Amino acid sequence: MPSHDTEELADIRRAVASLCEGFPGEYWRAKDAARAYPGEFVDALTKAGFLAALIPAEHGGSGLSLAAACVIMEEMQASGCNGSSAHAQMYIMNTLLRYGSEGQKAEYLPRIASGELRLQAFGVSEPTSGTDTLSLKTRAAKVSGRDGDEYIISGQKIWTSRAEHSDLMLLLARTTPRDQAASKTEGLSIFLVDMQAALRSGMTVKPIRTMMNHSSCEVFFDDLRIPATALVGEEGKGFRYILSGMNAERILIAAECIGDAKWFIAKATAYAKDRSVFARPIGQNQGVQFPIARCYAQMRAAELMVYHAARVYDEGGNPGEEANMAKLLASEASWAAADMCVQTFGGFGFAEEYDVERKFREARLYTVAPISTNLILSYLAEHVLGLPRSY
Ligand SMILES: Cc1cc2nc3c(=O)[nH]c(=O)nc-3n(C[C@H](O)[C@H](O)[C@H](O)COP(=O)(O)OP(=O)(O)OC[C@H]3O[C@@H](n4cnc5c(N)ncnc54)[C@H](O)[C@@H]3O)c2cc1C
Repeated sequence: MPSHDTEELADIRRAVASLCEGFPGEYWRAKDAARAYPGEFVDALTKAGFLAALIPAEHGGSGLSLAAACVIMEEMQASGCNGSSAHAQMYIMNTLLRYGSEGQKAEYLPRIASGELRLQAFGVSEPTSGTDTLSLKTRAAKVSGRDGDEYIISGQKIWTSRAEHSDLMLLLARTTPRDQAASKTEGLSIFLVDMQAALRSGMTVKPIRTMMNHSSCEVFFDDLRIPATALVGEEGKGFRYILSGMNAERILIAAECIGDAKWFIAKATAYAKDRSVFARPIGQNQGVQFPIARCYAQMRAAELMVYHAARVYDEGGNPGEEANMAKLLASEASWAAADMCVQTFGGFGFAEEYDVERKFREARLYTVAPISTNLILSYLAEHVLGLPRSY
């Protein structure tokens, strides 16, 4: 049991691992080959209550800590599964929980917790704005409709993962033109969009084929009308809401990376003991042992930062520095372990049947998304070390 685990976290870890046994490598290989959504896996996680971990008990969830949610995500990855099919539900939830009205929470949270609705889509990135979120162009204009106030949405999102498999999308759009907003960070708003209704009245979803099975999409809004009640929190404050949710997102993704690193290290260790070349196990050579040992040390150091960041978050602190460092260190630890694992397997690292090449492709994402390494370094340089602002 890892040193940060309490008995409760260890129980959660065992329960997730046991569920994941029902989804072995063959399951993921078939989904990967067909670029198909692992709906059975997501349903099983929902049924077991894992995806409702952060929903308070009064709204039908289990009201667990962020550390517990991290354990859930980490264990999925360490078991060889691909939690990217469901992870957004964990971190999107935070915005609804913190800034949603009591009416929105009462309407949606119990249905999300029960699995009746999936909240899996997060529409922030746009093709032309990239990392510069404040320059996004999707527009939400308020108008008076026959049945009350509405917003008309027009624009485009890209990389909206799981858009084809979600009932709800948390959407960031501009409600005040940039040159008229009170400040640089004002004028963006968050909406909870009913995707099934939107698909019938102005929203189009187009999948993007990527190097791994991630169900990412382009989403087009052609004068989509949504009720004004879809606004989350106050109009114009959406960027602040998104920023405040990012710590939880970074910590959870970092926990996934730790799980991936553990998977690669366990896989490489077992193979190095078993594979015999020159009449002895390859793992008897220090040239093979040392990269595995180095990755283990790198992963353990990153793991300490991840659970430290989760603890600061759970204690009500602002873990901006810790969450960013956790994401940076964990994504680099998992990518180093992925590369080491392929090297340890030699040619067999490229064969689909060992799952190493699949996990290698999946793990590559996290030094780029949801935030790239450069942007984290820039945050640390500017906000923690006080270096001059570069952009
Ligand atoms: C598979 C996948 C799934 C995704 N899922 C979602 C999702 O569900 N919802 C969503 O909203 N988005 C999603 N994204 C988008 C993701 O968050 C972005 O790709 C990521 O934030 C990087 O933005 P970009 O691709 O526009 O890169 P760009 O902003 O174009 O940057 C390209 C490169 O330049 C570097 N760079 C840019 N500016 C600077 C600077 N000032 N200093 C130093 N380096 C800089 C970046 O670090 C990066 O390496 C997903 C992306 C992928 C690939």
